[in-house]
Amino acid sequence: MSDNTILVKNSTCTFCGCLCDDMDLTVDLEQKRITKAKNACILGRAWYANHAIEDRPAALIDGVEASVEQAVEEAARILVDARFPIIYGLSDTTCEAQKQAVALADYLKANVDTTTSVCHGPSGVAFQGVGESTATLGEVKNRADLVIYWGGNPAESHPRHFTRYSVTPKGMFVPEGRKDRTVVLVDVRTTKSAPVADIFIKVKPGTDFEVLWALRALVKGRRVDPSIEGRTGVPLSTMTDLVERMKNCRYGVFFFGMGLTMTRGRHFNAGAVLALVTDLNHHTHFVTLPVRGHGNVTGADNVVSWQTGFPFGVNFSRGYPRFNPGEFTTVDLLARGEADAALILASDPASNFPRKAVEHLRRIPVIVLDPKPTNTSELARVAFTTATYGINAPGTVYRMDNVPITLRTAFPSPHPSDEAVLTAINAKVRQLVKKN
Ligand code: SF4
Repeated sequence: MSDNTILVKNSTCTFCGCLCDDMDLTVDLEQKRITKAKNACILGRAWYANHAIEDRPAALIDGVEASVEQAVEEAARILVDARFPIIYGLSDTTCEAQKQAVALADYLKANVDTTTSVCHGPSGVAFQGVGESTATLGEVKNRADLVIYWGGNPAESHPRHFTRYSVTPKGMFVPEGRKDRTVVLVDVRTTKSAPVADIFIKVKPGTDFEVLWALRALVKGRRVDPSIEGRTGVPLSTMTDLVERMKNCRYGVFFFGMGLTMTRGRHFNAGAVLALVTDLNHHTHFVTLPVRGHGNVTGADNVVSWQTGFPFGVNFSRGYPRFNPGEFTTVDLLARGEADAALILASDPASNFPRKAVEHLRRIPVIVLDPKPTNTSELARVAFTTATYGINAPGTVYRMDNVPITLRTAFPSPHPSDEAVLTAINAKVRQLVKKN
């Protein structure tokens, strides 16, 4: 290893909600890039390769290079002048930055929302309504002998979920690892995850709720009409077999993804999973966990919940937090043309929001904090280049099972962290409000 190369052991990959904290990173300090990421999956390696320090301005105002101080001043002015500012994103940054974002929204009587509203928001609604029988991924690794994935494709979206937590690892009560587990995959199509499963069940699109409710009925010993197959594509015999496996396992886990939460039924689907798991606990030990996408989206749910009492889609315009998905979720607000300024933190809504929402984003002043140029930063009035969390910026993140992890950085960045920029905007906003 040369003088300019260091090895950072046990760093955390922040690309997806698995937050694998066993990365051994080889860092070229002269080139300011990670040249090798031992233990990273294909997505993790791409994440590290894409986050070398580039020679970019720290801030832009209307596309013209500016100092961080000038950009902070401009951002604060935009937010103070707005009648209905919104703050959105939050899921690809540290909890410390998220805390500043919520504090800013609270002070400004703004709207704060996270990417949860476009992924597992329905799960959040279902957790409140039905309750959650949950566990850590460590518990799953050590105990689960029946693993069910519903509406997700972890082989492509979370490549190390199988190998690190749920399918192949040997655990205290499953010493033979894969041989000790039965894996079931339920989805509307055959994906790259299907070969991993012992049993693959194909459900007709839009009928997950019906299948889950029929499983509930069977767990409770009720009769289900065989015509359910015509409606859902799943034979009654397959359902009966699955129910027997679920009732007779020692420790079952139900992982569910956006194939369940973002399709017909949404929070009813997530609620049906939670209710089914509750029913199964009359027979054995069963837990359920959503499979979360962005690195710290679970942290965003936690921070917004601690500070407002609600997980996403929170409005402070009356001076106290109100939660109403559909009314205070960002896609809906923008599509109705309601916001008059936006601060976007570590997110790129211009790439994935519906056209009407993006059109409104183009009409209003936008402030963006992101380590990379994005479609949203291109339309921004003020764009900050910030340090990448987990590579250049330290802090706390929450794994998808709500376990907090402290980040170990690889090398410093010339750019400030999201937390530093938001702390400065918070201070400047307070100064401007006092002056007025
Ligand atoms: S599974 Fe996710 S967190 Fe783990 S290395 Fe791959 S991308 Fe990173």
